[in-house]
Amino acid sequence: MKKLPCVCGVREVIPRTPSMTFEGKSDFLANIAEIHYASAAVRLLSALSIKSLPNNADRIFTGPPKKDCILVDFVRLQSQSLSHYIQAEHFSPPPHRDIWYNCEQHVHLEGCLVPELLFALALRNNVNLPSTDGLYTSVASYSAYLSRNDAFQDLDAFLSLYYTGLSVLQTQQDYHDLAMVYFRQAAQDNVRHAEVFFDPQAHTSRGVAYETILAGFKSACTEAQTHLGISSKLIMCFLRHVPAADAIEHYYTARPDLLNGSIAGIGLDSSEKGYPPELFQGVYALALKDEVRRTAHAGEEVGPHVVVSSLDKLHVERIDHGRTIPQDLELLSRMAREGIMVTLCPLSNLKLQGVKSIDQLPVRVFLDAGVKFSINCDDPAYFGGFILDNYCVVQEAFNLTAEDWRQICKASIEGSWCDGTRKRTLLEELEVVIDAFNKHSLEGVTGEDQLKDQASVR
Ligand SMILES: [Zn+2]
Repeated sequence: MKKLPCVCGVREVIPRTPSMTFEGKSDFLANIAEIHYASAAVRLLSALSIKSLPNNADRIFTGPPKKDCILVDFVRLQSQSLSHYIQAEHFSPPPHRDIWYNCEQHVHLEGCLVPELLFALALRNNVNLPSTDGLYTSVASYSAYLSRNDAFQDLDAFLSLYYTGLSVLQTQQDYHDLAMVYFRQAAQDNVRHAEVFFDPQAHTSRGVAYETILAGFKSACTEAQTHLGISSKLIMCFLRHVPAADAIEHYYTARPDLLNGSIAGIGLDSSEKGYPPELFQGVYALALKDEVRRTAHAGEEVGPHVVVSSLDKLHVERIDHGRTIPQDLELLSRMAREGIMVTLCPLSNLKLQGVKSIDQLPVRVFLDAGVKFSINCDDPAYFGGFILDNYCVVQEAFNLTAEDWRQICKASIEGSWCDGTRKRTLLEELEVVIDAFNKHSLEGVTGEDQLKDQASVR
Protein backbone atom coordinates (compact mmCIF):
# COMPACT_ATOMS: atom_id res chain seq x y z
CA MET A 1 0.00 0.00 0.00
CA LYS A 2 1.13 3.52 -0.73
CA LYS A 3 2.82 5.14 2.25
CA LEU A 4 1.24 8.19 3.71
CA PRO A 5 3.09 11.41 2.97
CA CYS A 6 2.59 12.35 6.59
CA VAL A 7 2.87 10.96 10.08
CA CYS A 8 -0.25 9.08 10.98
CA GLY A 9 0.20 6.69 13.75
CA VAL A 10 2.89 5.11 15.83
CA ARG A 11 3.25 2.59 18.57
CA GLU A 12 6.92 2.21 18.09
CA VAL A 13 9.93 4.35 17.34
CA ILE A 14 13.28 3.11 16.08
CA PRO A 15 16.25 5.31 17.00
CA ARG A 16 19.29 5.53 14.75
CA THR A 17 21.47 3.80 17.34
CA PRO A 18 20.27 1.52 20.14
CA SER A 19 22.02 3.49 22.88
CA MET A 20 20.70 6.85 21.79
CA THR A 21 19.00 9.08 24.31
CA PHE A 22 17.11 12.22 23.57
CA GLU A 23 17.25 15.60 25.22
CA GLY A 24 14.37 17.43 23.62
CA LYS A 25 11.78 17.49 20.91
CA SER A 26 14.05 18.50 18.07
CA ASP A 27 16.70 15.91 18.96
CA PHE A 28 14.04 13.29 19.23
CA LEU A 29 12.51 13.92 15.85
CA ALA A 30 15.84 14.41 14.08
CA ASN A 31 17.17 11.10 15.31
CA ILE A 32 14.29 8.85 14.54
CA ALA A 33 15.22 6.21 12.00
CA GLU A 34 11.84 4.59 11.66
CA ILE A 35 8.41 4.92 13.17
CA HIS A 36 6.07 1.98 12.99
CA TYR A 37 2.32 1.46 13.16
CA ALA A 38 0.13 3.86 11.26
CA SER A 39 -2.38 4.37 13.99
CA ALA A 40 -0.79 6.66 16.54
CA ALA A 41 1.78 9.01 15.00
CA VAL A 42 -0.69 11.81 15.10
CA ARG A 43 -0.85 11.23 18.83
CA LEU A 44 2.93 11.46 18.93
CA LEU A 45 2.86 14.88 17.30
CA SER A 46 0.05 15.94 19.53
CA ALA A 47 1.83 14.68 22.66
CA LEU A 48 4.90 16.67 21.67
CA SER A 49 2.79 19.73 20.80
CA ILE A 50 4.21 19.71 17.31
CA LYS A 51 1.99 21.22 14.66
CA SER A 52 3.98 20.55 11.48
CA LEU A 53 5.36 17.29 10.25
CA PRO A 54 9.03 16.42 10.73
CA ASN A 55 11.32 16.11 7.72
CA ASN A 56 11.71 12.40 8.29
CA ALA A 57 8.02 11.76 7.92
CA ASP A 58 8.67 9.60 4.89
CA ARG A 59 10.27 7.02 7.16
CA ILE A 60 7.04 6.47 9.00
CA PHE A 61 5.12 3.41 7.91
CA THR A 62 3.15 0.46 9.09
CA GLY A 63 5.04 -2.64 10.06
CA PRO A 64 5.93 -5.08 12.81
CA PRO A 65 8.33 -4.44 15.70
CA LYS A 66 12.03 -4.64 15.02
CA LYS A 67 15.12 -4.79 17.18
CA ASP A 68 16.29 -1.83 19.25
CA CYS A 69 13.03 -0.04 19.36
CA ILE A 70 11.51 2.40 21.77
CA LEU A 71 7.94 1.66 22.60
CA VAL A 72 6.02 4.86 23.03
CA ASP A 73 3.09 5.05 25.38
CA PHE A 74 1.44 8.29 24.39
CA VAL A 75 -0.67 8.67 27.47
CA ARG A 76 2.34 8.53 29.76
CA LEU A 77 4.39 10.60 27.36
CA GLN A 78 2.01 13.48 27.85
CA SER A 79 2.59 13.50 31.58
CA GLN A 80 6.39 13.21 31.58
CA SER A 81 9.26 15.16 30.13
CA LEU A 82 10.34 13.69 26.84
CA SER A 83 13.96 12.97 27.75
CA HIS A 84 12.96 11.28 31.02
CA TYR A 85 10.40 9.21 29.24
CA ILE A 86 12.61 8.13 26.38
CA GLN A 87 15.50 7.08 28.63
CA ALA A 88 13.23 5.13 30.92
CA GLU A 89 11.36 3.41 28.14
CA HIS A 90 14.25 2.39 25.90
CA PHE A 91 14.16 -1.36 25.65
CA SER A 92 14.31 -4.25 23.22
CA PRO A 93 11.20 -5.59 21.51
CA PRO A 94 8.73 -7.45 23.71
CA PRO A 95 10.48 -10.70 24.59
CA HIS A 96 7.49 -12.85 23.76
CA ARG A 97 7.24 -11.47 20.24
CA ASP A 98 8.49 -14.73 18.74
CA ILE A 99 5.93 -16.88 20.49
CA TRP A 100 3.04 -14.62 19.61
CA TYR A 101 2.30 -17.18 17.02
CA ASN A 102 -1.35 -16.95 16.50
CA CYS A 103 -4.75 -17.48 15.04
CA GLU A 104 -7.33 -14.74 14.85
CA GLN A 105 -11.08 -15.28 15.04
CA HIS A 106 -12.49 -11.80 15.47
CA VAL A 107 -11.69 -9.34 12.72
CA HIS A 108 -14.25 -7.66 10.48
CA LEU A 109 -12.89 -7.27 6.97
CA GLU A 110 -14.92 -4.07 6.67
CA GLY A 111 -13.12 -2.87 9.79
CA CYS A 112 -9.83 -3.04 7.87
CA LEU A 113 -10.81 -0.07 5.71
CA VAL A 114 -7.71 1.95 6.57
CA PRO A 115 -7.76 5.66 5.69
CA GLU A 116 -5.47 5.23 2.68
CA LEU A 117 -7.75 2.62 1.13
CA LEU A 118 -10.92 4.56 1.98
CA PHE A 119 -9.71 7.58 0.04
CA ALA A 120 -8.23 5.51 -2.80
CA LEU A 121 -11.53 3.66 -3.32
CA ALA A 122 -13.55 6.88 -3.10
CA LEU A 123 -11.40 8.21 -5.94
CA ARG A 124 -11.57 4.97 -7.93
CA ASN A 125 -15.37 4.77 -7.68
CA ASN A 126 -16.21 8.50 -7.82
CA VAL A 127 -17.77 8.44 -4.38
CA ASN A 128 -18.18 11.78 -2.61
CA LEU A 129 -17.38 11.37 1.06
CA PRO A 130 -19.44 13.57 3.40
CA SER A 131 -18.14 17.06 4.10
CA THR A 132 -19.08 16.86 7.80
CA ASP A 133 -16.75 18.95 9.98
CA GLY A 134 -13.81 18.51 7.61
CA LEU A 135 -13.46 14.89 8.74
CA TYR A 136 -13.05 13.55 5.21
CA THR A 137 -10.93 16.41 3.86
CA SER A 138 -7.84 14.24 3.54
CA VAL A 139 -6.23 11.01 4.68
CA ALA A 140 -4.40 13.04 7.34
CA SER A 141 -7.52 14.71 8.74
CA TYR A 142 -9.42 11.43 8.83
CA SER A 143 -6.46 9.58 10.40
CA ALA A 144 -6.08 12.31 12.99
CA TYR A 145 -9.69 11.91 14.00
CA LEU A 146 -9.46 8.13 14.28
CA SER A 147 -6.37 8.38 16.45
CA ARG A 148 -8.14 10.47 19.09
CA ASN A 149 -8.90 8.66 22.33
CA ASP A 150 -12.36 10.21 22.33
CA ALA A 151 -13.13 9.47 18.67
CA PHE A 152 -16.01 7.21 19.71
CA GLN A 153 -18.14 7.56 22.82
CA ASP A 154 -19.68 4.13 22.34
CA LEU A 155 -20.31 1.33 19.84
CA ASP A 156 -23.07 3.20 18.00
CA ALA A 157 -20.88 6.28 17.47
CA PHE A 158 -18.29 4.04 15.85
CA LEU A 159 -20.86 2.20 13.74
CA SER A 160 -22.12 5.48 12.28
CA LEU A 161 -18.65 6.26 10.90
CA TYR A 162 -18.10 2.65 9.91
CA TYR A 163 -21.22 2.46 7.73
CA THR A 164 -20.42 5.80 6.05
CA GLY A 165 -17.04 4.46 5.00
CA LEU A 166 -18.53 1.35 3.45
CA SER A 167 -20.07 3.42 0.65
CA VAL A 168 -16.72 3.30 -1.21
CA LEU A 169 -16.86 -0.51 -1.55
CA GLN A 170 -18.52 -1.39 -4.84
CA THR A 171 -16.65 -3.86 -7.05
CA GLN A 172 -15.22 -7.33 -6.61
CA GLN A 173 -11.73 -5.81 -6.81
CA ASP A 174 -12.60 -3.40 -3.97
CA TYR A 175 -13.52 -6.30 -1.70
CA HIS A 176 -10.40 -8.18 -2.69
CA ASP A 177 -8.21 -5.15 -1.97
CA LEU A 178 -9.90 -4.60 1.39
CA ALA A 179 -9.30 -8.17 2.54
CA MET A 180 -5.69 -8.03 1.39
CA VAL A 181 -5.06 -5.04 3.69
CA TYR A 182 -5.86 -7.39 6.53
CA PHE A 183 -4.00 -10.45 5.26
CA ARG A 184 -0.78 -8.54 4.48
CA GLN A 185 -0.67 -7.05 7.95
CA ALA A 186 -1.66 -10.38 9.51
CA ALA A 187 1.29 -12.06 7.78
CA GLN A 188 3.65 -9.48 9.27
CA ASP A 189 2.05 -10.02 12.68
CA ASN A 190 2.65 -13.79 12.70
CA VAL A 191 -0.98 -14.79 12.07
CA ARG A 192 -1.08 -18.33 10.69
CA HIS A 193 -4.83 -18.88 10.49
CA ALA A 194 -7.56 -16.23 10.34
CA GLU A 195 -11.33 -16.49 10.60
CA VAL A 196 -12.69 -13.26 9.22
CA PHE A 197 -16.14 -11.68 9.47
CA PHE A 198 -18.03 -9.92 6.74
CA ASP A 199 -21.43 -8.17 6.80
CA PRO A 200 -23.26 -8.84 3.51
CA GLN A 201 -26.31 -6.81 4.60
CA ALA A 202 -24.18 -3.66 4.83
CA HIS A 203 -23.48 -4.00 1.09
CA THR A 204 -26.55 -5.63 -0.41
CA SER A 205 -28.63 -2.82 1.14
CA ARG A 206 -26.62 -0.41 -1.07
CA GLY A 207 -27.20 -2.46 -4.20
CA VAL A 208 -23.98 -4.49 -4.23
CA ALA A 209 -24.63 -8.12 -5.20
CA TYR A 210 -23.89 -10.83 -2.64
CA GLU A 211 -21.90 -12.67 -5.33
CA THR A 212 -19.64 -9.63 -5.87
CA ILE A 213 -18.80 -9.40 -2.17
CA LEU A 214 -18.14 -13.10 -1.76
CA ALA A 215 -16.05 -13.39 -4.93
CA GLY A 216 -13.78 -10.52 -3.84
CA PHE A 217 -13.27 -11.92 -0.34
CA LYS A 218 -12.79 -15.48 -1.58
CA SER A 219 -10.10 -14.49 -4.07
CA ALA A 220 -8.24 -12.65 -1.29
CA CYS A 221 -8.43 -15.76 0.94
CA THR A 222 -6.93 -17.79 -1.90
CA GLU A 223 -4.15 -15.23 -2.41
CA ALA A 224 -3.44 -15.17 1.34
CA GLN A 225 -3.09 -18.96 1.35
CA THR A 226 -0.94 -19.08 -1.79
CA HIS A 227 1.37 -16.12 -1.24
CA LEU A 228 1.33 -15.54 2.53
CA GLY A 229 0.77 -19.06 3.91
CA ILE A 230 -2.26 -17.94 5.93
CA SER A 231 -5.21 -20.31 5.99
CA SER A 232 -8.56 -18.64 6.50
CA LYS A 233 -12.31 -19.06 6.92
CA LEU A 234 -15.06 -16.60 6.08
CA ILE A 235 -17.83 -16.01 8.63
CA MET A 236 -21.00 -14.27 7.49
CA CYS A 237 -22.40 -11.93 10.15
CA PHE A 238 -25.93 -10.61 10.46
CA LEU A 239 -26.53 -7.04 11.58
CA ARG A 240 -28.54 -6.85 14.79
CA HIS A 241 -30.19 -3.55 13.91
CA VAL A 242 -31.64 -4.98 10.68
CA PRO A 243 -34.89 -7.00 11.00
CA ALA A 244 -34.38 -10.71 11.61
CA ALA A 245 -36.39 -11.54 8.47
CA ASP A 246 -33.62 -9.97 6.39
CA ALA A 247 -31.07 -12.20 8.14
CA ILE A 248 -33.12 -15.26 7.18
CA GLU A 249 -33.33 -14.05 3.58
CA HIS A 250 -29.54 -13.63 3.46
CA TYR A 251 -29.09 -17.03 5.06
CA TYR A 252 -31.01 -18.69 2.22
CA THR A 253 -29.02 -16.69 -0.37
CA ALA A 254 -25.76 -17.87 1.16
CA ARG A 255 -26.97 -21.37 2.09
CA PRO A 256 -25.22 -23.17 -0.83
CA ASP A 257 -21.92 -21.50 0.18
CA LEU A 258 -22.50 -22.35 3.84
CA LEU A 259 -23.18 -25.98 2.97
CA ASN A 260 -20.20 -26.36 0.62
CA GLY A 261 -17.81 -24.69 3.07
CA SER A 262 -17.09 -21.52 1.06
CA ILE A 263 -18.41 -19.76 4.16
CA ALA A 264 -17.51 -21.48 7.42
CA GLY A 265 -20.29 -20.20 9.63
CA ILE A 266 -22.51 -17.37 10.81
CA GLY A 267 -22.09 -14.58 13.36
CA LEU A 268 -24.08 -11.69 14.83
CA ASP A 269 -22.71 -8.16 15.21
CA SER A 270 -23.54 -4.42 15.23
CA SER A 271 -25.46 -2.65 18.05
CA GLU A 272 -25.81 -4.89 21.09
CA LYS A 273 -28.07 -2.63 23.17
CA GLY A 274 -31.74 -3.12 22.34
CA TYR A 275 -31.23 -6.10 20.04
CA PRO A 276 -31.22 -9.27 22.19
CA PRO A 277 -30.13 -12.65 20.81
CA GLU A 278 -33.72 -13.94 20.99
CA LEU A 279 -34.57 -11.87 17.89
CA PHE A 280 -32.33 -14.14 15.82
CA GLN A 281 -33.35 -17.55 17.11
CA GLY A 282 -34.96 -18.38 13.77
CA VAL A 283 -31.88 -17.97 11.62
CA TYR A 284 -29.64 -19.68 14.19
CA ALA A 285 -32.06 -22.61 14.31
CA LEU A 286 -31.68 -22.97 10.54
CA ALA A 287 -27.89 -22.98 10.90
CA LEU A 288 -28.05 -25.56 13.71
CA LYS A 289 -30.22 -27.82 11.55
CA ASP A 290 -27.79 -27.43 8.63
CA GLU A 291 -24.81 -28.13 10.97
CA VAL A 292 -23.37 -24.72 10.10
CA ARG A 293 -20.94 -23.21 12.63
CA ARG A 294 -22.30 -20.46 14.89
CA THR A 295 -20.82 -17.59 16.87
CA ALA A 296 -22.18 -14.23 18.07
CA HIS A 297 -21.04 -10.94 19.57
CA ALA A 298 -22.20 -10.87 23.19
CA GLY A 299 -21.11 -9.24 26.43
CA GLU A 300 -19.38 -6.33 24.72
CA GLU A 301 -21.55 -3.47 25.99
CA VAL A 302 -24.27 -5.47 27.74
CA GLY A 303 -23.99 -7.74 30.78
CA PRO A 304 -23.41 -11.49 30.94
CA HIS A 305 -27.10 -12.37 30.53
CA VAL A 306 -26.67 -11.74 26.79
CA VAL A 307 -23.90 -14.32 26.72
CA VAL A 308 -26.17 -16.81 28.49
CA SER A 309 -28.97 -16.13 25.98
CA SER A 310 -26.57 -16.55 23.06
CA LEU A 311 -25.46 -19.92 24.40
CA ASP A 312 -28.93 -21.18 25.28
CA LYS A 313 -31.09 -19.60 22.57
CA LEU A 314 -28.71 -19.36 19.61
CA HIS A 315 -26.59 -22.42 20.47
CA VAL A 316 -23.39 -20.61 19.59
CA GLU A 317 -20.08 -22.44 19.76
CA ARG A 318 -18.05 -19.45 20.82
CA ILE A 319 -18.57 -15.91 22.14
CA ASP A 320 -17.21 -12.79 20.48
CA HIS A 321 -16.03 -10.18 23.03
CA GLY A 322 -17.45 -11.69 26.24
CA ARG A 323 -15.82 -8.93 28.26
CA THR A 324 -18.60 -8.92 30.87
CA ILE A 325 -18.63 -12.69 31.51
CA PRO A 326 -16.85 -12.52 34.93
CA GLN A 327 -19.77 -10.52 36.32
CA ASP A 328 -21.59 -13.89 36.48
CA LEU A 329 -19.43 -16.41 38.31
CA GLU A 330 -21.65 -19.34 37.34
CA LEU A 331 -21.28 -18.34 33.68
CA LEU A 332 -17.52 -18.00 34.13
CA SER A 333 -17.22 -21.56 35.37
CA ARG A 334 -19.63 -22.78 32.68
CA MET A 335 -17.43 -21.24 29.96
CA ALA A 336 -14.43 -23.11 31.39
CA ARG A 337 -16.35 -26.35 31.93
CA GLU A 338 -17.83 -26.42 28.42
CA GLY A 339 -14.62 -25.21 26.73
CA ILE A 340 -16.35 -22.32 24.95
CA MET A 341 -13.82 -19.91 23.54
CA VAL A 342 -14.08 -16.13 23.93
CA THR A 343 -12.59 -13.82 21.31
CA LEU A 344 -11.34 -10.82 23.31
CA CYS A 345 -10.64 -7.54 21.49
CA PRO A 346 -8.61 -5.33 23.88
CA LEU A 347 -8.05 -2.16 21.85
CA SER A 348 -11.64 -2.23 20.62
CA ASN A 349 -12.99 -2.30 24.18
CA LEU A 350 -10.67 0.54 25.14
CA LYS A 351 -11.48 2.71 22.14
CA LEU A 352 -15.23 2.25 22.53
CA GLN A 353 -15.00 3.19 26.22
CA GLY A 354 -16.01 -0.28 27.43
CA VAL A 355 -13.00 -0.20 29.76
CA LYS A 356 -10.88 2.69 30.98
CA SER A 357 -7.64 0.75 30.71
CA ILE A 358 -6.52 -2.59 29.30
CA ASP A 359 -5.88 -4.03 32.78
CA GLN A 360 -9.65 -3.94 33.39
CA LEU A 361 -10.10 -6.73 30.83
CA PRO A 362 -10.56 -10.28 32.16
CA VAL A 363 -7.28 -11.63 30.76
CA ARG A 364 -5.90 -12.79 34.12
CA VAL A 365 -9.37 -13.84 35.28
CA PHE A 366 -9.87 -16.05 32.22
CA LEU A 367 -6.39 -17.56 32.50
CA ASP A 368 -6.91 -18.42 36.17
CA ALA A 369 -10.43 -19.74 35.61
CA GLY A 370 -9.37 -21.88 32.64
CA VAL A 371 -11.60 -20.03 30.17
CA LYS A 372 -10.23 -20.37 26.66
CA PHE A 373 -9.77 -17.09 24.83
CA SER A 374 -7.94 -15.54 21.94
CA ILE A 375 -6.78 -11.95 21.40
CA ASN A 376 -8.05 -10.16 18.32
CA CYS A 377 -8.19 -6.80 16.59
CA ASP A 378 -11.94 -6.45 15.73
CA ASP A 379 -11.91 -3.33 13.49
CA PRO A 380 -8.21 -2.48 13.31
CA ALA A 381 -8.49 0.52 10.99
CA TYR A 382 -10.60 2.27 13.63
CA PHE A 383 -9.31 1.01 16.97
CA GLY A 384 -5.60 1.71 16.91
CA GLY A 385 -3.95 -1.38 15.58
CA PHE A 386 -3.93 -4.90 14.24
CA ILE A 387 -3.40 -8.07 16.24
CA LEU A 388 0.21 -7.41 17.26
CA ASP A 389 -0.78 -4.07 18.78
CA ASN A 390 -3.36 -5.93 20.84
CA TYR A 391 -0.80 -8.49 22.01
CA CYS A 392 1.55 -5.65 22.98
CA VAL A 393 -0.99 -3.78 25.10
CA VAL A 394 -2.05 -6.99 26.84
CA GLN A 395 1.58 -7.77 27.67
CA GLU A 396 2.15 -4.25 28.94
CA ALA A 397 -0.94 -4.43 31.15
CA PHE A 398 -0.63 -7.98 32.52
CA ASN A 399 3.09 -8.82 32.35
CA LEU A 400 2.26 -12.37 31.24
CA THR A 401 4.74 -15.23 31.30
CA ALA A 402 5.75 -17.45 28.40
CA GLU A 403 3.51 -20.17 29.83
CA ASP A 404 0.56 -17.76 29.89
CA TRP A 405 1.16 -16.97 26.23
CA ARG A 406 1.44 -20.64 25.41
CA GLN A 407 -2.00 -21.15 26.98
CA ILE A 408 -3.48 -18.26 24.98
CA CYS A 409 -1.92 -19.22 21.63
CA LYS A 410 -2.85 -22.88 22.11
CA ALA A 411 -6.48 -21.99 22.88
CA SER A 412 -6.62 -19.77 19.82
CA ILE A 413 -5.53 -22.69 17.64
CA GLU A 414 -7.77 -25.26 19.30
CA GLY A 415 -10.78 -22.90 19.18
CA SER A 416 -10.44 -22.31 15.46
CA TRP A 417 -12.77 -23.86 12.91
CA CYS A 418 -10.03 -25.26 10.68
CA ASP A 419 -9.76 -29.04 10.31
CA GLY A 420 -7.84 -31.35 12.60
CA THR A 421 -4.85 -31.64 10.28
CA ARG A 422 -4.35 -27.89 10.12
CA LYS A 423 -4.74 -27.61 13.89
CA ARG A 424 -2.12 -30.29 14.48
CA THR A 425 0.29 -28.49 12.15
CA LEU A 426 -0.26 -25.19 13.93
CA LEU A 427 0.10 -26.76 17.39
CA GLU A 428 3.37 -28.42 16.34
CA GLU A 429 4.68 -25.13 14.97
CA LEU A 430 3.70 -23.38 18.20
CA GLU A 431 5.68 -25.92 20.26
CA VAL A 432 8.71 -25.34 18.04
CA VAL A 433 8.69 -21.56 18.60
CA ILE A 434 8.09 -21.99 22.34
CA ASP A 435 10.92 -24.52 22.64
CA ALA A 436 13.21 -22.11 20.78
CA PHE A 437 12.15 -19.30 23.12
CA ASN A 438 12.78 -21.40 26.23
CA LYS A 439 16.15 -22.60 24.90
CA HIS A 440 17.17 -19.01 24.18
CA SER A 441 16.04 -17.99 27.65
CA LEU A 442 18.23 -20.65 29.26
CA GLU A 443 21.25 -19.60 27.22
CA GLY A 444 21.26 -15.92 28.03
CA VAL A 445 19.19 -13.01 29.12
CA THR A 446 15.72 -14.35 29.50
CA GLY A 447 12.57 -12.79 28.29
CA GLU A 448 11.38 -12.75 31.90
CA ASP A 449 14.48 -10.82 32.92
CA GLN A 450 13.87 -8.31 30.19
CA LEU A 451 10.36 -7.83 31.46
CA LYS A 452 11.60 -7.41 35.04
CA ASP A 453 14.15 -4.87 33.83
CA GLN A 454 11.40 -2.96 32.16
CA ALA A 455 9.28 -2.98 35.29
CA SER A 456 12.17 -1.87 37.50
CA VAL A 457 12.80 1.35 35.59
CA ARG A 458 9.17 2.43 35.73
ZN1 LIG B 1 -16.58 -7.38 16.31
